[in-house]
Amino acid sequence: MEIIENVYQLDCASHGHVFFIRSDEGILIDTGMPGLVEKILAELEALDGAVQTIKKILLTHHDIDHIGNAKALQDATQAEVWAPQEDVPYIMGEKNRPGIKRILQTISRPPKPHISGCYLVNQNFGEVRVIHAPGHTPGHTIFQYRNVVFIGDLFQEIKGRLDLLPRFFIWDQEEAKRSISIIKELQYDWICPSHGMPIKRGTVTENFLKNF
Ligand SMILES: [Zn+2]
Repeated sequence: MEIIENVYQLDCASHGHVFFIRSDEGILIDTGMPGLVEKILAELEALDGAVQTIKKILLTHHDIDHIGNAKALQDATQAEVWAPQEDVPYIMGEKNRPGIKRILQTISRPPKPHISGCYLVNQNFGEVRVIHAPGHTPGHTIFQYRNVVFIGDLFQEIKGRLDLLPRFFIWDQEEAKRSISIIKELQYDWICPSHGMPIKRGTVTENFLKNF
């Protein structure tokens, strides 16, 4: 679905969304659950052959449903893959994920992409602004493009409501809550969570954010 002009939430990745920002230097935000590469490429191809334009793949954090197709998409597009520095050891399998994620990683170990770079403070990729928002994971990062904020797993949308992710998926709850308050400083119209549907700024967002 198109969220605003040239910004898409791909329909094929419903658990751990993949977002595509169309431009001369196209950008993907996150890569979905493992095994979706063919569907992702087909959906991008249907958007005027968008596969060839993708130059950057930006990962919000190390969780499997975000990095699942990073290597396969990098191989298909030759795009650079960028990630938060603190999350790279988990992506590369050098550190075990904490808690329940340690069990999940024994079931599914996505192939490792080549990490082209780690986000710098106040970095931009074209019009995409990098915003450090740790807590869900040590390096969790969100992005803003024009009036859209891609919040990764900072919080989620469920049936029109906003909520935190289950506590056992969160690395540091207090830090995550502090990061949610960052949203209040931003100018935006749309929030795009990785889990749930995009939500327009309004009563629901204001009522949720005032708790942080
Ligand atoms: Zn996550």
